[in-house]
Formats: sequence, structure tokens, C-alpha cells
Amino acid sequence: MQSGSEPTNHVVIALQGAFAEHQVMLKKLSLKQKLTVVLVRSEEDLSKCDALILPGGESTTIALLARLAGLLEPLREFTKKKPVWGTCAGAILLAQSVENTKKGGQEVLGGISISIARNGWGSQVESFEAALEVEGLRESDRPFHGVFIRAPVVLSLDPKPLDPPIHVVARLSIGLLPKSQTLVPEDEDDTDPRDARTIVALRQGRHLLTTFHPELTADHRIHEYFVMECVLGTPV
Ligand code: GLN
Repeated sequence: MQSGSEPTNHVVIALQGAFAEHQVMLKKLSLKQKLTVVLVRSEEDLSKCDALILPGGESTTIALLARLAGLLEPLREFTKKKPVWGTCAGAILLAQSVENTKKGGQEVLGGISISIARNGWGSQVESFEAALEVEGLRESDRPFHGVFIRAPVVLSLDPKPLDPPIHVVARLSIGLLPKSQTLVPEDEDDTDPRDARTIVALRQGRHLLTTFHPELTADHRIHEYFVMECVLGTPV
């Protein structure tokens, strides 16, 4: 990371998806460092960045556009070295493996060792909102308003022995899990609050993943968390 008064390029990639919303949130932060927010459209743009936000949108389209721009491999390399935050579709891209992909599969960056289900809430649950307790935020006893739109669902945490540990940052209460054939089969015990499917925010090393959309609220505490803890802070 750059230090002192040098500018920090904390960057949002948006080949498709919610760039402007993240930019607005990042501009609201009061930081000692100067934050430059740019759109990444090429490998050259990416090479100037210290961190990245992969926004929501449509993961298959974002991956396709990244491939067409020659950015997939550079993004994978970036993810090995620098902090990345994936929100919703971005969370899908950041995962190691994805289920319920579109026909033809889903390219991923593999920065976080989890398996995730695209559109995991099923077609009946297009979107919903829920008050979340998010660990590590400023004023952490004030709930964060989670906006979920065709959100993915975390299926399992699969860190290998040498991977950084995965740290769960927010969960939904078990009662909010959808009853569906894929998520909670009728005959399965769904009372375990540690069920991976309840995880809606997690951290691995310097990467952050949220299955909801903090950029669609007026609350910039998760953006602040990403910058302060993942980008400028010490790795966990
Ligand atoms: N369901 C979308 C996808 O598969 C993600 C939706 C979102 O980002 N709000 O990429």
C-alpha cells in the first residue's frame, strides 16, 4: 500500500454494473488519504490501482466483458496481490466456485475460497431487505440495512491449509433463509445458525465479499470498512 500523503487509487471496476453508486459512497468518506476513484476498462487502468471493487450487475456479463477487454487474467493476477471487494455479482466473480450458473458456465477470479450459488434465493425471491449486524463497522450496534437483489448464497467455506482464514462478518438469521429445493430441502434440519447459507458478508485476507448492495443505501460504513481495514489496514 502507498503510505503518507501519496494518493491512493482505490478503484472501482465497472465493465457493467453499479459504478456510479460506489463512486458516490467512496466520495462521502472522510479520510486522511486522497482517494481516486476510476473506472477500469483496460489492463493499463488496472495496473494503476491499489484496490478494486467488483460491483453488482450480472456476473456472466461482467465476466464476458472482462474477457473481451483482455482483463480476465490481469484481474486474476490482481486478486492474488491486492484487496478486492465483490458486491453481489462481484461476489460471484470473486468466489472460487459457482453453482447455478448460466448455460456455458461462469468465469471466476477465485480470490475467496468459497462456493456460492448464483441467484441462490430462487426465482420467487427476487429481492428483499433485512437489518444486519455487521462486525467491525463504526457504530456496530446500529444495524446495516441490507439490500438483496437476485443475490447469491454462500454454500460452503473451503479454505485450503495455506489460505488466509475466512472471517464471517455478517449473517442473516436462520429464519430468513428461503425454503427451496436447493437451499433448504424440506427434510433437512435448518436450525443451525452456523449454516454457511446464512453468511452474507465475509472477509478472507484483504478481500471482502458482500452478497447484498451497500452502495444502494445512504450508509457508507461498509465502504469505510473496506478502505480502512482491507485496503489501508493490516491483513487478518
Ligand atoms: N444475479 C446476478 C448475477 O448472477 C447478481 C445480481 C446483482 O448483482 N444484484 O450476476
